[in-house]
Amino acid sequence: MSTIAVDFDGVLHSYERGWADGTIYGDWKPGAVVALSQLMRRHAVFVHTTRPARQVARWIEQRSGHGIECTTRVPRTGWLRRPGFWNEHGVLLVTDRKLAATHYIDDRAVRFETWPQALRDVGIEPLVGEVP
Ligand SMILES: [Mg+2]
Repeated sequence: MSTIAVDFDGVLHSYERGWADGTIYGDWKPGAVVALSQLMRRHAVFVHTTRPARQVARWIEQRSGHGIECTTRVPRTGWLRRPGFWNEHGVLLVTDRKLAATHYIDDRAVRFETWPQALRDVGIEPLVGEVP
């Protein structure tokens, strides 16, 4: 079992108007509910968001017709040794923390391989040679 982190805005939530007034105004991204359910069947899944976790958890529960049950509780101790504990019973963790994961699914991610590549991917030409 792997731990999969799933971003909320732009990945689960359509987010076509950006942050706007801070409300969750949109709909599911196409395929999001089925994809989440599929992921949760095989892996530990958590949704990470910069929004208040409870706001996102409520939205997911309501908009899934209560097909997806959420928790916002990250246990304090031992959770790192028990990856996946939170969805052992099909419960989706929603958190505003960056927790350990084997994969992050995010619409704004830059995959890091090397610094020159990462700089180029964000539009900066890396300096040539060794820089302290
Ligand atoms: Mg996003």
